[in-house]
Amino acid sequence: MHELSIAISLVEQLERAARREGAERVTAVRLVVGGLSGVEREPLEFCFPMAARGTLLEGARLEIEEVPPRVRCPACGAEETGGPAPVAACPRCGAAPVEILGGRELRVREMEVV
Ligand SMILES: [Zn+2]
Repeated sequence: MHELSIAISLVEQLERAARREGAERVTAVRLVVGGLSGVEREPLEFCFPMAARGTLLEGARLEIEEVPPRVRCPACGAEETGGPAPVAACPRCGAAPVEILGGRELRVREMEVV
């Protein structure tokens, strides 16, 4: 499952950051996950506690903020947010490919430590 390897590398990265800050424990993590990032919320939520076991992140609360895909049509300039991903063609004029403006991100917005 590819979310498990994502969860593991995320935990490693966060644990390093927490140690640098001299934290004893990470209590919460807030992630931003784009609709085009290829990462699904539910498997990630499922894998996170497994990846966190035995680390400073064990028991941390995981909050995921989903960002819808955002695209722009280079032909007519129409901008679309949301909708099915990946968006292959402009819903207004049918031109393809569309330019991707957002929704590919997978990043940590915030981490709470004690
Ligand atoms: Zn268009």
